[in-house]
Amino acid sequence: MLELRGLDAGYGGTQVLRGVDLIVPDGSIVALLGPNGAGKTTLLRAASGLIRPMGGDIVLGGESVLGMPPHDLCARGLCHVPEGRGIFPSLTVRDNLILQSKAGKEKESIERAVSAFPRLGERLAQLAGTMSGGEQQMLALARTYIQKPRFVLLDEVSMGLAPKIVDEIFEFLGRLAAEGSALLLVEQYVTRALDVADYVYLLNRGRVSFAGEVSEVDADAIAAEYVGGG
Ligand code: ATP
Repeated sequence: MLELRGLDAGYGGTQVLRGVDLIVPDGSIVALLGPNGAGKTTLLRAASGLIRPMGGDIVLGGESVLGMPPHDLCARGLCHVPEGRGIFPSLTVRDNLILQSKAGKEKESIERAVSAFPRLGERLAQLAGTMSGGEQQMLALARTYIQKPRFVLLDEVSMGLAPKIVDEIFEFLGRLAAEGSALLLVEQYVTRALDVADYVYLLNRGRVSFAGEVSEVDADAIAAEYVGGG
């Protein structure tokens, strides 16, 4: 499992997260919800090695991985799909996939990506930055998928996309989970997130204000509380 223990994190002299304890059990889906500015993105960035925590520990499979850079964490099975997607816009779809692939496994990786998102198969030669927002998000997800990660941190992957594309993306998340990846999901569509999640954490002003099983919470009440509800 992935454990955050007493995590403090922030930017410069500004502390955002205060003593956050959070567990993502193997193979589970955890929804991380909270109002704007609560620190959700900061939490994902700290957990994936993009920013160095100010305190606390990050434990992956029983071993501290504090201070490890993102690519090492991803090689160990903890990968991040960041807000803003993190693809290379001036490279083709094919090259974006190849860059993320193990040497000698390029063909297999492309096939795996296309099996998840057939639309990418039609666009392998296209420059990634010229695709629609939804297609770019699919590419970002596919780049993570080809690495067969044990843990995936997902930051607002449905942001700004048409409902039909959001459906496709949630279908993909279900497939990812069914194949055994655990997900930590930051999502503006609270109801959709709670529909797929096993556990929910509520973050308020950098602290966990609730942690529990989704079956314990009133999804409608949580959805009503946060912008984006549905
Ligand atoms: P949202 O739902 O609006 O994305 P969030 O819960 O993801 O919010 P964060 O993006 O983690 O919240 O932001 C938490 C706090 O950290 C905010 O007050 C924000 O202004 C601040 N913050 C975020 N990024 C930086 C940065 N690079 N430098 C300084 N402060 C930052």
